[in-house]
Amino acid sequence: MLQAVKELLRARGIEEVAPLSLTDCRVVRPYLLERAGIADGTVFLFAVPYYTHACDDPEKNISAYCVSADYHRFFAALFDEVLPLLRSTFPDFRFAGFTDHSPIIEGEAAARAGLGFLGCNHLFLTKKYSSFVFLGEIVTDAKVYAEKKEIAYCPNCGACRAACPVSLATECCLSALSQQKKPLSENEQKILKAHNVAFGCDICQEACPVTIAAKKAGTLYTNIRFFIDSALPRLTVNCVEEMSDEEFAARAYSWRGRAVILRNLRLLEDSQ
Ligand code: SF4
Ligand code: SF4
Repeated sequence: MLQAVKELLRARGIEEVAPLSLTDCRVVRPYLLERAGIADGTVFLFAVPYYTHACDDPEKNISAYCVSADYHRFFAALFDEVLPLLRSTFPDFRFAGFTDHSPIIEGEAAARAGLGFLGCNHLFLTKKYSSFVFLGEIVTDAKVYAEKKEIAYCPNCGACRAACPVSLATECCLSALSQQKKPLSENEQKILKAHNVAFGCDICQEACPVTIAAKKAGTLYTNIRFFIDSALPRLTVNCVEEMSDEEFAARAYSWRGRAVILRNLRLLEDSQ
């Protein structure tokens, strides 16, 4: 079964896949497993690379995870394709797919499965793609041999902390600030302007030596067309205002609402 899962995912640009017994995962949303009719079995964890060459645009003003269309749509389409194929190949077993809203703690399980390691920036990283991956999992009630590994951690080099523009000033993380709905103070506005942040921040991830090495080796960049074709690294007031509701809803930042993004963009454009 592992081979079948790997082949199905590899055909869709996903190469990092590893199994872990469900009993070795920390289950935080048991109702999701109950809904899928799965009490015990195996989790196939996988890392989806999303960093595109468009993310290197010096004018980029949003976090790389928001540059392409909403990754939840990618996962929905992936599971719609892959789960029926698995069900027809293995009719005695149940299968369910998750990302983000998952029954388990994804990063910890992925590290236990040996897919990668946990970083001091609180993110999951792989050597090939650094932290620029979305984790997903296919859960089944089939029991597949899976080795539980010791959780690996990054070397704690401190480059992410050193690069963070606000850590020393005890200010709020830029990513959280850019998503804040309540009005921004004058100082908060200044910080967003100074760092050209319209939504999210990648400074600590970009400074990580794992990212720098993956970029240099060229492995960082995704081959998945969904992310490449929909990339829009620089937002402007005009382009966000011109998006139809449907177009806006297809972007990963849409959950925060148009008003927050437009407020941030007006701040950036006022300072030009
Ligand atoms: S996302 Fe940006 S502001 Fe937040 S911790 Fe990382 S570098 Fe600092
Ligand atoms: S920059 Fe260094 S400390 Fe931070 S996540 Fe990367 S390897 Fe770990």
